[in-house]
Amino acid sequence: MEHPIPPLLPQVLKKHRYHLVGKHSAVKRCKWLYESLIHNRSCYKQKFYGIKSHQCIQMSPSLFYCTQQCLFCWRAQSGDLQIKWDERELPNWDAAEEVVQESLKAQAKILSGYNGHPKTNWKKFTEALTPRHVAISLAGEPTLYGHLGKLIRTFHHKGFTTFLVSNGTVPSKLADLGEEPTQLYISVCAPNEEVFKRVCRPQVPDAWAKLNETLGLLPSFRCPTVTRMTLVKGYNMEFAEGYAELVEMAEPTYVEAKAYMHVGFSGLRLDYKNMPSHGEVYEFARQLAERTGYMIIEESVESRVVLLSKRKKPVRFESL
Ligand code: SF4
Ligand code: SF4
Repeated sequence: MEHPIPPLLPQVLKKHRYHLVGKHSAVKRCKWLYESLIHNRSCYKQKFYGIKSHQCIQMSPSLFYCTQQCLFCWRAQSGDLQIKWDERELPNWDAAEEVVQESLKAQAKILSGYNGHPKTNWKKFTEALTPRHVAISLAGEPTLYGHLGKLIRTFHHKGFTTFLVSNGTVPSKLADLGEEPTQLYISVCAPNEEVFKRVCRPQVPDAWAKLNETLGLLPSFRCPTVTRMTLVKGYNMEFAEGYAELVEMAEPTYVEAKAYMHVGFSGLRLDYKNMPSHGEVYEFARQLAERTGYMIIEESVESRVVLLSKRKKPVRFESL
């Protein structure tokens, strides 16, 4: 039997400009889509990896469901705003083709808002009408979605590049994806189990062991892999040696050290002062580099992100 999502939740999410797709997916305008079309500025992933912000769809196939309740998460979690539901009670999943088609329609609807905006860059707007990249990362844990490999494959067949972001607590799904994303992100937001429990607040048994299992799987991926650390001042920026051990196990193509941003529903759980400055993120990255042999190869001051790698330059996807 399906356990319904409280009707108030979709209403709240719509107010926060989530475009709900089918029973459990959503597309949301990324602020960088706006910045790119109106102010000709792009996100750090365009700068690092070449994907175009104005041709990017930010979506989730599992909006209401996650195995963690990270303090820094910008999504609405069960219990926020006194709305409660079971985030691990999974629905009958919509088909992958349907999620893709409806996501494309939602993105077209988002873009229609720029038709007539006096500052829209028309060349970019025309390009944006043909999206080329999808960030499967908006909210919720995508590996819970029952047809994730097919979703990725469907996007690839349509000529998209795909960046998949997972919290790594479902290694069996990642090991058996069928179709790898263009780039795979695993969130590593704690140097040890104690901090993990405090900051990522796992909702399933053995989550730390499962994350470690996923990190052990990463070297078997052919696509570029990333361990991403969302750094929350006062919570998870110490014990660089713990992070270094995890990086050594995962051998990722990149490490992204990134500041927590005080946005979305995270404002209910954390304070503005929990956002580290770019200098603090850089110092963290420097300590990690010292311990791992990874080099700092890129940074974005405005997004407070530092990129580390053993490569001299990131792989860029603009020509795909
Ligand atoms: S890659 Fe991420 S940050 Fe960049 S435009 Fe897409 S969703 Fe936004
Ligand atoms: S794993 Fe991701 S979606 Fe789940 S609570 Fe953490 S940040 Fe939010």
